[in-house]
Amino acid sequence: TRLQIAAGNWKMNKTFEDAMQLSRALANATRDENVLTIMATPSIYLKMIVDQVLHVPGLEVAAQNCHEKESGAYTGEISAPMLESIGVKYVIIGHSERREYFAESNEVLARKVDIALANNLIPIFCCGESLEIRKSGKHLSYVANQLKESLYHLSAEELSKVIVAYEPIWAIGTGETASPEQAQEMHEYLRNALAEQYSEDIANGISILYGGSVKPANAQIIFSQKDVDGGLVGGASLKAEDFVQIINAF
Ligand code: 13P
Repeated sequence: TRLQIAAGNWKMNKTFEDAMQLSRALANATRDENVLTIMATPSIYLKMIVDQVLHVPGLEVAAQNCHEKESGAYTGEISAPMLESIGVKYVIIGHSERREYFAESNEVLARKVDIALANNLIPIFCCGESLEIRKSGKHLSYVANQLKESLYHLSAEELSKVIVAYEPIWAIGTGETASPEQAQEMHEYLRNALAEQYSEDIANGISILYGGSVKPANAQIIFSQKDVDGGLVGGASLKAEDFVQIINAF
């Protein structure tokens, strides 16, 4: 059986006091500790929040991005070794907002996955198609190609560490979710692609999360799909009570 994961992506939200309050509320909430709960916070708060939740069972912290290089003259950037050095264990790689606004290509993302793994960070690798591609009917092969170009250079052992998050761009922040059937179709397709490239055993061990307007009202039906192992949640992760309901929806 695969790990069930509820990951909250705070994106560029919350000032310091509000961020600490949210992470404290999650740490103190009654929630299913068998569900791996991850908070992807703004990087400026990571160290404080890592320390705050250090001994809280089932609650982990992620960065939202890292640079593709170890170190150097890249003003304003944050490296994977820096994240590891403050005790961060997870990093979101290739969110559609990074792909779109920061021009991150599949090739760059392959390097980010490598540097994350080399520094003991677990990548939460995001993939997903635009509305235009969905309408063209080529979404399955488009998303499978994102995995191919950014992940298939990994060894089986490396790939086994990766968490995949399928986030259709048309469902992010729009209030429109993929239907449970649409999510299941894509997740199954991706799992089969991974099985073909690696092995059935490896594919069966990879958690594939769904993202895009997950909220308390729809989490349960989405998470109950056979190949959906949890969610990557934006807006609804910003309120502790909403996110706790989502965590407890498995
Ligand atoms: P929303 O849940 O706000 O649609 O955002 C999804 C997302 O992009 C999470 O990474």
